[in-house]
Amino acid sequence: MGSGKKELSFVIPCYNEAGNVEAIYEAIHSVFDPEGICYEIVMVNDGSKDGTREKLRALFSAHPDGGLRIVDFSRNFGKEAAIFAGLQMARGKCCAVMDCDLQHPPETLPEMYRLWRAGYDVVEGVKADRGRENVVYRCMSKLFYRLMSLATHIDMSRASDFKMLDRKVVDALAALPERNTFFRALSSWAGYKTVSVEYCVQERAAGYSKWNTFGLFRYAINNI
Ligand code: UDP
Ligand code: MG
Repeated sequence: MGSGKKELSFVIPCYNEAGNVEAIYEAIHSVFDPEGICYEIVMVNDGSKDGTREKLRALFSAHPDGGLRIVDFSRNFGKEAAIFAGLQMARGKCCAVMDCDLQHPPETLPEMYRLWRAGYDVVEGVKADRGRENVVYRCMSKLFYRLMSLATHIDMSRASDFKMLDRKVVDALAALPERNTFFRALSSWAGYKTVSVEYCVQERAAGYSKWNTFGLFRYAINNI
């Protein structure tokens, strides 16, 4: 697909996603090849220990013209760092951020893309439902979002990291001095012409969620 500017960049943080990288790569191609636009897929390997890196390299070798670009972290820095590194690498006029495990349905992307084309700067994927979660997780996340909206006056109860951002929003986020960031909040906080699109949270395709109770707690305190 050559180098230089792209219409669209997909930014995908990947931590121990060996079972998913190929599937998401194929899914994006099957949804976007018919659009006939020039796009790239920036996959950020966040220090995986399960062969994600080898899978990404194999994918690149198999499809050298498939628009795949790989960012390889030296260790696990966390999802936020992976998203921001991916956004910094991205060359698209529009950047889509999505999870690697297919919980953010690729079929929703064309609608988001059309809204960006229609002039929106931030197209937010909002959860129509929260998918399958256990009771403790659901309660803790409710409490977290209650505190967050008290502190920031931004309602994030259905927010997610599934978004499309115009180049100017990506540049504005990249210019922020913060290093410890909370992507889903910052992209709302930054302002800009925003619209939301509902999506149904899918079951994780392969592998496991990376969160444990302690990790989530630390993440929540950090973000607040
Ligand atoms: N992820 C990452 N680094 C981490 C943890 C997660 O890049 O340290 C990625 C992960 O590979 C996935 C996304 O962030 O693409 C969401 O992670 P996960 O599915 O584990 O979270 P959940 O959907 O359970 O909230
Ligand atoms: Mg997930």
